[in-house]
Amino acid sequence: MERTVSIVRYKPGERNVEKAISLCGGAEGLKSHFKVMIKPNVVIGGRLYKNLKKGVVINAEVLEELIVFLKDFGCTDISIGDGSVQLPELGATTETAFLTSGITELAERYGLKLLDFYQHPFKKVTLGGKRIEISVPVLEADYVVNMPVLKAHNQTQVSLSIKNLKGALNFPSKKNFHKFGLDRYIALLGTYLRPHLNIVDGLYSLNKGPVSADWQEVGVLLAGNDPLAVDIVGTKVLGFEPSDVGHLREYAAITGESLDIGKIAITGESLEDVQVTSEWETTWDEMMSAFNVKGVSIITSGAGVCSSCGFAMSRALYMVFRDLTGQSFQPVQFVVGEVAKIPEISQTMLLGKCAINMNKGAAGSIRVKGCPPNVNDVYAMVKEYLTTGACTPSQAK
Ligand code: SF4
Repeated sequence: MERTVSIVRYKPGERNVEKAISLCGGAEGLKSHFKVMIKPNVVIGGRLYKNLKKGVVINAEVLEELIVFLKDFGCTDISIGDGSVQLPELGATTETAFLTSGITELAERYGLKLLDFYQHPFKKVTLGGKRIEISVPVLEADYVVNMPVLKAHNQTQVSLSIKNLKGALNFPSKKNFHKFGLDRYIALLGTYLRPHLNIVDGLYSLNKGPVSADWQEVGVLLAGNDPLAVDIVGTKVLGFEPSDVGHLREYAAITGESLDIGKIAITGESLEDVQVTSEWETTWDEMMSAFNVKGVSIITSGAGVCSSCGFAMSRALYMVFRDLTGQSFQPVQFVVGEVAKIPEISQTMLLGKCAINMNKGAAGSIRVKGCPPNVNDVYAMVKEYLTTGACTPSQAK
C-alpha cells in the first residue's frame, strides 16, 4: 500500500481530499489523538503575490477540505505551519503569506494553531556531514501532512512533496542548501522528515516556478504516503521524466526506491488523462527581451542562487527594465550568487554577499551588500548605474 498514489479530478463542492486519501489508503496510520502538522506550500505573500494568484501557493479550498477531513476523523490537535520568503521591503513575510492565501482566516474559523516556523525553535541536525536546522514543531508532530502545489521549478525542475519540505528549515539552512548541493540536500531532508501523507494541490500547475504568473488549469489532486512515489506521478503529470529530476534521483539512490512509475499503483483517474506540458527553465534574457533592453548581461550560478536572492533580484531588475524599456547600454554585467570569479571586473555590479565574497578585492566593481540585498537598494542603484554610469556615494554601500 505504501507505493499507491491516487489521482482525483477536483470537483467543487465534493469531498475531493477525502476521496484522494481514501483511494490511496493514506490515513491508515492516522490516530485521532495525534498531534498533526499540516505543511502547505505558502511560499510567498505580500505585494509580490498580489498579481500572481494561481498555482503559486496552496488553494484555501483544498486546505479546508483537509481540515474538515481531520476534524471529522476526530483530530483535535492540528497546526498549520510554514516559513515563507522574507522580503519585508515588499511586505513579504510568513504572516502576509498566511493572510493573502486565506490560511489565517481558515485557522481562525477552525480553531487551529498557525505557526510561522521562523518564530519557533529549530533543532540542529547533521545531514550528509553538514549541520542544518529543522523546525522543532515539525519534528515533534506525530503526523505530518505535506501539501505541495503542482509546480515546475526553475532550479529543481519540479517542486512537489520532497521539495516542499525545504520550508521547514531555518533561513541560514535554506541558503546553505544551495552551497552544499541543492538536489542532494533536498533529498536528504526528504528522507529525514519523510512525511506521513502527501497531498499535491494540482488545481493549477505553475510553469517556471516557484513564483510566476504562468499557470494552467489541471484540476487534480494527488495523494499518497510515499513522497517519492507521489513526486514520480506528479512529475509525469507535469510532463517530465522523473529520472531527469536531480533531487528525485538522489532520493531514490539514498532510499533504494525505484523511479519506475510501473512500480507504483495508481488509483482513480488514469495518468494519461491528466498529463499536461510544462516549462521549467527561465533566463534573464527573457525578461530583458520582454522590455527590449540591450547591453546588459546577468551572471548567475543556477542552483547556487538561493530563493531569497532569486526573488529579490528578479523583482528589482524587473522594475528597472520596465522603467528603461527600449534602451540600450554600454556593456555592463550584474553578478548574483556564488559564481566563479569574474575575469573582467570593469563595468560590473556585484549584487549580494555571495557575489561580493567571490570577487573580493576587485577594484572598480560596484557592490550592493546584503543577504539578500534590499530590493529597493538594488532597484535604485542598478537604475542609476545604467543611466549615469555610476552610483551616488550614499547608495554605493
Ligand atoms: S547573497 Fe543571495 S545567494 Fe548568497 S546566500 Fe545571501 S541570499 Fe543567498
